[in-house]
Amino acid sequence: MLGHNGAVSTVNAKNAQQATDANGQSLNPEEPSEALRERYAQLSDRVREARAAYYVHDQPTISDAEYDALYRELEEFEALHPELKTNDSPTQEVGGEVGAAFSPVTHLEKMYSLEDVFSTDELVAWLERAQQQVEQLPGAPEVAWLSEVKIDGLAVNLLYRDGVLVRAATRGDGTTGEDITHNVATIKTIPQRLRGEGFPEEVEIRGEVFISSQDFRALNEAMVEEGRAPFANPRNAAAGSLRQKDPEVTARRPLSMFVHGIGYARGFELTTQSAAYDVLKDWGLPVSPYSRVLRSVPEVLEFIAEFGDKRHSLLHEIDGIVVKVDDRRTQFRLGYTSRVPRWAVAYKYPPEEVNTTLLDILVNVGRTGRVTPFGLMEPVRVAGSTVEMATLHNQDVVKAKGVLIGDTVVLRKAGDVIPEIVGPVVALRDGSEREFVMPTECPSCGTPLRPAKEGDVDIRCPNAETCPSQLKERVNHAAGRGAFDIEALGEEAAKALTQPVPLDAPDGTDLSVPPLRNEAGLFDLTPEDLRNVQVWRDTRRTVTDPDTGEKVQRVTQQLVPYFWTKPTKAKPSVPSKTTEMMFAQLHEARNTDLWRVLVALSIRHVGPTAARSLAVAFRSMDAIRAADQETLAGTDGVGPVIAQAVREFFEEPWRRNVVEQWTRAGVRMEEELDESTPRTLEGVTVVVTGSLEGYSRDSAKEAILSRGGKASGSVSKKTDFVVAGENAGSKLDKAESLGVPVLDESGFVQLLEQGPGAFGDVTAGADENEGE
Ligand code: NAD
Repeated sequence: MLGHNGAVSTVNAKNAQQATDANGQSLNPEEPSEALRERYAQLSDRVREARAAYYVHDQPTISDAEYDALYRELEEFEALHPELKTNDSPTQEVGGEVGAAFSPVTHLEKMYSLEDVFSTDELVAWLERAQQQVEQLPGAPEVAWLSEVKIDGLAVNLLYRDGVLVRAATRGDGTTGEDITHNVATIKTIPQRLRGEGFPEEVEIRGEVFISSQDFRALNEAMVEEGRAPFANPRNAAAGSLRQKDPEVTARRPLSMFVHGIGYARGFELTTQSAAYDVLKDWGLPVSPYSRVLRSVPEVLEFIAEFGDKRHSLLHEIDGIVVKVDDRRTQFRLGYTSRVPRWAVAYKYPPEEVNTTLLDILVNVGRTGRVTPFGLMEPVRVAGSTVEMATLHNQDVVKAKGVLIGDTVVLRKAGDVIPEIVGPVVALRDGSEREFVMPTECPSCGTPLRPAKEGDVDIRCPNAETCPSQLKERVNHAAGRGAFDIEALGEEAAKALTQPVPLDAPDGTDLSVPPLRNEAGLFDLTPEDLRNVQVWRDTRRTVTDPDTGEKVQRVTQQLVPYFWTKPTKAKPSVPSKTTEMMFAQLHEARNTDLWRVLVALSIRHVGPTAARSLAVAFRSMDAIRAADQETLAGTDGVGPVIAQAVREFFEEPWRRNVVEQWTRAGVRMEEELDESTPRTLEGVTVVVTGSLEGYSRDSAKEAILSRGGKASGSVSKKTDFVVAGENAGSKLDKAESLGVPVLDESGFVQLLEQGPGAFGDVTAGADENEGE
């Protein structure tokens, strides 16, 4: 079995080393043929083992990327040692076999696999080679490439006799598959009887059975709820659901199918594969919406890039793109190897799913005290970056995913998307795994944890005021771009201000009391207060190993001053440049907008939008503090939940103290009345959609609010104007369907300057009043 940790980086490194071994030693005439044979047998056995786990048990033990690397290694080995290659090598066979639970059926025509390529260079070489072969055929037509997405499901062969579905089988070894007729009969999108006419007496239709991305999540949650292990990914879920002994189980699973080929079909011929898809569609069969006939290699590459970008918004998972010669006669003339057609190729996208070990599940205490479990994993490279942590959201999610500490897990990172633990590789459990138990006390301050209110899934640390974790997050948030915007005060500085020496400092040094015990003192800090703040930092040193004499890197932890420079003989310690910048920015921040101050206070549910609404409506912190819940709730853009949160905030003495201390430190707590801006949009609701040249999303909003208007995020009958910029989408469509006036950017400028009067009396308010 491949290493239990299963991490692709490790395995790849291992494989690479083995490949070099194999390659290197193969050139060595001294190599005993027995040893080579042995290594070859081991390699093929590993491929066979992985195939059995994948095709027969529907429980792969390694990731697809690892399998592909292993398979390539076998191919390379065989290329170097053709004398060792056996006829039953996995490279000569269509992967898969017939499981004991199913009756074997012989396909009328063989089912093939596909030749894989893993880079666009390889693909271009393949396409050019194929093109040359076609050009050498007498009277060959110009090549058109039918490009399609490669559905990550399992291959199924449907046999229709006189238009009636009589048999369905898995691919198996390509010649003999497994009879799954009763199971396939439960898939609603597969017709029991073909529509129309003109179909051959007997026709085999091939395609892919899959579970849509949307259905997969719900299915896994249901599995865990029933106390069963979840599926590692949609492909396994589809295979596991279809290859059931009891069709009733299959019937409960949300399976779908797209067909992508015709097998045996005597007396039935079509000029192109794309034309065949139209025919299959006419017969009532489900055909993928994601295919296109392309005329050149650059077009194929564009198709790959396009679907690479949108692969996660498709109906189902894909693992690549299949490119086929569209012309059926040319396909026939190019023919097949024992395993693959010579007229089609599969380009595989770089892996986004890898296996790694879940070393531990720890918890993080956030800004509002929410305790979030996250997985700590053996670092692994996936989709362009190294990942070692992934959030698990809450204890219900940990349960729903069915992961145990110590499990090999499938980790997915789709492009720039946040990494996600998909599920455990159950087949690799050895009994040493343990369940995650949510802590009952805050790991940061030791306070007993509890949900904010009964029935909440999230549990929280109620010690908002002094819990170091929460304080650090609040300080970081207050300095954030949507609040005081203090660039020189980032996460690390927030930690240094609130937790200068980690609690688990190895020597237990208690250097100082944190400069901030609560964010109230943020604007009263002086550089002197920060003189002794130190943090632990990794330092790398190159040292000579006394045993080997080699130079090695040593990483040690050292206490270093954070805000001041390290004193030297020549220069005493002084505040660092960043620290000076931080103080300058803090000074400036005292004069910021009221809404930003509101955001900086970390009032629950009050983000920039609600803060703006409060600032516009009340104009001062005092007025907000004095307002009762009802008045707050009645404010445009506020509502009861935010109103209650604001009231609760001001009821806490320590929270009031933050406001008071900031006020004393000179933070402006009022909206400056800018008399120069005319209030042209009083009572007017505007929605901005798409991108404008002269305005960012925020500045457009600001421009509307400062003129007394309301900036809304959604279009309704109450919307007075929709401003549509570049790439405006559904909001523009909705405005048009509701008859809401639509303005372009110059119209927007006119609206800001002159108000709605410039466009006649078109406000929704005016219509409504008329109707009353
Ligand atoms: P393949 O997945 O590379 O491609 C062949 C299959 O693609 C065809 O049989 C067909 O059913 C399917 N396909 C999907 N969309 C298609 C389309 N639009 N047109 C035509 N065919 C389409 O090859 P394979 O032999 O089925 O399996 C090998 C792959 O399976 C490996 O590359 C790996 O990803 C996975 N695998 C993984 C493990 C593991 O242990 N993780 C083991 C075995 C196989």
